Amino acid sequence: MPKDEMVWDLSHLVESTSPALIQKKLKSMVVIAKKIRDTYHGKIGILDAKGLLALLEMRDTFTLKFEEATMYCYLMYSADSTNDIAKQLNEAARKASMRVGEALAFLNIALANLLAENPLLVTDPVLAEYKHYLERILRRAPHMLSETEERLIIIKDKNGIKAWQMLQSDWLSTQTFDIEIEGETKTLPYGEIIGLYESPDRDLRKRSNQIVYGNLGKDEIIWASAIRAVCEDHLQMSELRKYPTSMTQSLIANDVDQQTIISLMRTIEKNVCLYQRYLRLKAKLMGLNKLANYDLLAPLPNAPEMNYGWMEARREVVDAYMEFDEQIGVWVDEMFEKRHIDGEVRKGKESGAFCAEWLAGKSAYILQSFNGKMGDVSTLAHELGHAVHAYLGSRAQKPSNYEIGSCIAETGSTFGELLLTEQLLSKTKTKDEKQAILTRTLDEFGMTTFQVSARVFFEQNMYEAMERGEFLDGETIAKLWVVARDKIYGDSVDWLDVMKWEWTMKPHYYMANYRFYNYPYVFAQLFVFTLYQLYKEQGESFVPKLKRLLAAGSSRSPRELGAELGFNITGATFWEKGMEQAEEFINMLEETL
Ligand SMILES: [Zn+2]
Repeated sequence: MPKDEMVWDLSHLVESTSPALIQKKLKSMVVIAKKIRDTYHGKIGILDAKGLLALLEMRDTFTLKFEEATMYCYLMYSADSTNDIAKQLNEAARKASMRVGEALAFLNIALANLLAENPLLVTDPVLAEYKHYLERILRRAPHMLSETEERLIIIKDKNGIKAWQMLQSDWLSTQTFDIEIEGETKTLPYGEIIGLYESPDRDLRKRSNQIVYGNLGKDEIIWASAIRAVCEDHLQMSELRKYPTSMTQSLIANDVDQQTIISLMRTIEKNVCLYQRYLRLKAKLMGLNKLANYDLLAPLPNAPEMNYGWMEARREVVDAYMEFDEQIGVWVDEMFEKRHIDGEVRKGKESGAFCAEWLAGKSAYILQSFNGKMGDVSTLAHELGHAVHAYLGSRAQKPSNYEIGSCIAETGSTFGELLLTEQLLSKTKTKDEKQAILTRTLDEFGMTTFQVSARVFFEQNMYEAMERGEFLDGETIAKLWVVARDKIYGDSVDWLDVMKWEWTMKPHYYMANYRFYNYPYVFAQLFVFTLYQLYKEQGESFVPKLKRLLAAGSSRSPRELGAELGFNITGATFWEKGMEQAEEFINMLEETL
């Protein structure tokens, strides 16, 4: 197999790969954005349905016209950040996008004002294709401030709320930790020492946790000051923007309603025993009486080394999708064939994995560093699920209707991972292999569904405490975290005392305008487990339903998508199905004992 098969061909994105021509295209993007501003600034308030349609269609055409040039620059840089041309192009694309953003920033406020004045536009048949897009803008409208106030907030946030976020991130990333490994004391940065949490050596796992959290706890005054400022700012802004609760902003951003999230979280609370049952089972498989917190993500001691070559991985993943639907299988294979996947491990390449959808080309580009481990094959299946989402969504929707929120964004990807899991399970030859695959799936499900729920409860606890007028110092915040955590784990896990400082290192708690970011993960994971359960119940007749759901993009709310499957996601029945799927995997694992 030629090595370059694992490297992207980005030339499909542009007519010419000449850097000068790409720079020229970026410049014309800024010029056109300014023209749009000149044409529409101050004139949106008088638009009728036809006028609004023309504006929305024009903006979508603009997005599609320039998507490829910016995407080419970003992808080229993520593939090799040491390449001088990539550096220049990436910087040029970043600046051009920023200027476009500045030029078109007035649109959001102007559209919100227009719809607040004429709410009937939302249901006007002329605008039928944009109905849900407009509904979402209308929902935000009552909470927007004037253009001057919004601008002032952006300026003040830079050295206000965003400075706390930067302090937390800089503080964490510059910490170093001394740890003895094989008789030698090593000084490791945070990003490296956390790699030891999943070491097969239990003592090393324990010591790395002890050292990291013990040290982070010493700076509790910094973490607590930062988190307190972030939360207080959010409460004040929520009041100023007239949000009825501290969660409303997040509900609107995620296109969901309060009742759905209440039902989702109740389902979690009702099923903590199921998760605890899995954790006890994992303890048994590890030869322990009880798991300690540093065993939660540990591999099983007898887990076999499963290695895959690139072509073997391709075959596994394509087959898994093909088994579900032939057309999807063909698309997935095409991603390899057209070299839209960069799997090569090399210096200068961005770490981690992502899938960038290419709407104009009705396709996508995937980046990962493929090392041949089972986890890498799983990541490949995951990212290809995003690509399938993009294949279907970009064929059916305009860019405005393909702004998929976090609750739905992981549907194709996680579903694809489950298809792969099922296929690998059907081929396992030994008990050890089966246990390794199942614990991998259940560990991930447990972390995303239950562990993340502890964070949802923690955030709620903090706001409730603040609203009661409590002062949140480090120890108080730590107590709120432990209460939330224990609600999930009960007595199924032994925690090191220093784990009460676990909240200090989560960057998301400190990010500006990112409150209540956790439940969408829980939603996304359980949503897909439910869909998978439905697939198993309904067989082939479920396939077109999933394809319709993915093709919907953001043109319908998660609630409407659930209704199209015959479910009311504001109730518990839908979510319980996801738990049934998890229970099936736990039963399978139990049978291996
Ligand atoms: Zn993903």
